[in-house]
Amino acid sequence: MVNKWFSESLYPDIKLQLKVKKTLYSSNSSSQKVQFIETDRLGKILTLDGVIQTTTADEFIYHEMMAHVPLFSHPNPEQVLIIGGGDGGILREVLKHKGIKKITLVEIEKKVIDCSKKYLKQICSNSFQSKKLELIITDGAEFIKNRTNLYDVAIIDSTDPVGPAKVLFEDKFNRNVSNILKKNGIMVRQSGSSFLQKDELKENFNKSAKIFKHTSVYTASIPTYIGGLFSLIFSSNTINPNKFNKNTLKNRFAKLSLKTKYYNSEIHTACFKLPNYIKNIIGEKL
Ligand code: SAM
Repeated sequence: MVNKWFSESLYPDIKLQLKVKKTLYSSNSSSQKVQFIETDRLGKILTLDGVIQTTTADEFIYHEMMAHVPLFSHPNPEQVLIIGGGDGGILREVLKHKGIKKITLVEIEKKVIDCSKKYLKQICSNSFQSKKLELIITDGAEFIKNRTNLYDVAIIDSTDPVGPAKVLFEDKFNRNVSNILKKNGIMVRQSGSSFLQKDELKENFNKSAKIFKHTSVYTASIPTYIGGLFSLIFSSNTINPNKFNKNTLKNRFAKLSLKTKYYNSEIHTACFKLPNYIKNIIGEKL
């Protein structure tokens, strides 16, 4: 029997291939090609337009780092906005913070949510059933227009800046996120491989730095997102993540007695320490 392989199309000149055990779902939606594939090595994966979004093998790293770094950096997060996040992984992690009163999740593709509930239960668990969830199916950039002072944390868990996600990386979007955040508000977003998507990281950092007083890069090592340290961007007008008291983080983490597989309060401090090549990309003094 000829082995079937999934070949990722994120880069024109680099291919990550995964041996396919079974194609669980494959369909063209209105805006993206949606595939759920079972693989030998990385469990079940969701791909959109041929790009791996998440895998059951290593999703915990990205979802913990995108949720707990901003939530433990905020003194009292109650209202959270997630844009994208249709696989439910970020939602699952945010719900572990018992002080959260409401989570608005704005996903453009209902099919991603419906199929994730069916094929990626290991990731979304029952998070979409939460009473704290306000689920909205629309373009995140449209949703935040003309809304102000509503959220403590905004997590932009989108695909890369192509197709429907392009608008989520524009100046207007960052300005509108700043407006929709409350005074101590924090925005985090994924910004791709720090090594293979250098230009994207530089552009996303500079765009955020134009709007937010504090913009910092933090990193995580995520096997599926090839290209070394994966970059995430933390933005706030009042909270500087590099000036954080280690004990404050330790106490907040201990108080919640969270069960995590990657995040902890030491990683929280360390992930903002950057290698020189990343400092050079964002123009930070060595
Ligand atoms: N963890 C993944 C990553 O780092 O690339 C992202 C996962 S999540 C599946 C990405 C989601 O963003 C997709 O479900 C996609 O439909 C959604 N999305 C893309 N553009 C969007 C937009 N303009 N508004 C809301 N959701 C959007």
